[in-house]
Amino acid sequence: MVANPETKTKKRLHLTVNRIQLNGTIIKASFPKIDELQARGRAQEAFHAQAEGVARERFGNEVFVRGVVEVSNYCRENCHYCGMRRDNRDLTRYRAQVDQLAELLVHHCPSSVRELDIQAGEDPVVVRRVVLPLIRILREETSLGITLCLGSLSWDLYRQLREAGAETYILKFEIGDPELYAEMESPGTHRERIEHIEHLASEGWNVSSGFIVGLPGENERKMMANFELAQELPLAGCSVSPFVPGETTPLARAPMGNIDLTLNSMAALRVMRPDWLIPCVSALNIVEPDGGYERGLRAGANLVTINLTPSEVRGEYLLYKRDRFLMTEETILKSLGRAGLKPAEQSVAEALSGSWSGSC
Ligand code: SAM
Repeated sequence: MVANPETKTKKRLHLTVNRIQLNGTIIKASFPKIDELQARGRAQEAFHAQAEGVARERFGNEVFVRGVVEVSNYCRENCHYCGMRRDNRDLTRYRAQVDQLAELLVHHCPSSVRELDIQAGEDPVVVRRVVLPLIRILREETSLGITLCLGSLSWDLYRQLREAGAETYILKFEIGDPELYAEMESPGTHRERIEHIEHLASEGWNVSSGFIVGLPGENERKMMANFELAQELPLAGCSVSPFVPGETTPLARAPMGNIDLTLNSMAALRVMRPDWLIPCVSALNIVEPDGGYERGLRAGANLVTINLTPSEVRGEYLLYKRDRFLMTEETILKSLGRAGLKPAEQSVAEALSGSWSGSC
C-alpha cells in the first residue's frame, strides 16, 4: 500500500477504566481473561451461553442479514495468508460489471437481505469504475444499507464513497500484534491500518473491524493484543475469522486455526462489547463442517452474510480454497431457525443510526 499523504497521527483512545460511553449510554466493558479464551467442555458451554444471553438481551432473537458481492479479485497487497495476494499468479483476475451487479441487486436480492456488503481485493480501479456507480444506483433504486470492504484507500476515495451513499466500512486490523502484522505482510503498516480505521470513524463512517485467529506465529501475548486493539478502536463491530491455510499461499501447509479458540474469541468480544456487530463468518464451517457455523450463532454473533456474487466469478474470489462453503439464503435461514433466531427487519445502517426497533 502506498502511504497516504493525508495520514495524520492521531491520539489513540486508551481505555483504562472498565466503563465506556457509546452514544451517551454507559456500558460495562469486560476485558477477556485467558481462561475464558481457553475454556472447553462445561466451562466453554457456560461462557458461550453468557455471550448468547448478552446478545439476546441487546438484540432480541434478531440477526442482521447482509448480502455480499465480491466485485474484484485484483489486489495490490501481498498478505501471506490470502489467496488473492498479488504474487499469486495461479488466479484468473476479474472485475465485475456494474450493469450485471445492478440487475442482480436491484431486482433479485433475497427478501431477507437488508444490507449489502460490496467487497474486493485492494483495487482502487474497481472502486472508481464499478463500486461508485453501483452505490449511486443502489441509493436511487433501493433502501438497502450499504457496507464496503475494499481495503485501505485514499482519503479522497473514502470521501467519494461516503458522498455516494455508503454508511459502513469494514476494515479489519487483521492482527493486533505489530510484529506479526509486518511478518505476514498485511496491508501497509500496522500503524497505517489503525490510522485508516480512526480516519474513517472521524469522517462519520460506522467502522467494523476484525482479526484472524490461529495464524502461524501467534502466541498468548499476540492473541491478547487482538482484544487490546479492538477495545481501543472507535468501532461499531468486530469479526473473528479462524485462519484457513490457503491452497496457493506461502502458508498452505500451516495448521488450521482452532475452532474453540475462534468461538471463545467471539464470545469474549460479545461480553466485552454487548452493542457490537459480531458476524458469524462462513469459515467456521470450513474449520468445523459439522456445526461450526451454528455454534457461532450461539456464541454471541448477531450478523449473517448471504453470498450474492455472480456464479461465473465466485470461484476466483479466492481467500483460501476454491471449494469454500457457500452461504445461500436457504442455508442461512435454516441455521437461524435451528438456533431460534430470525432475520432483523432493519439494516445495520438503520440500527446504528439509533433507530433500532428490534424486538428487545
Ligand atoms: N481487501 C480488503 C481488505 O484488505 O480489507 C477486503 C477483502 S480481504 C480479501 C478479506 C479478508 O479475508 C481479509 O481482511 C482477511 O482478514 C481475510 N482472510 C484472507 N485470507 C484469510 C485466511 N487464509 N484465513 C482467514 N481469513 C483470511
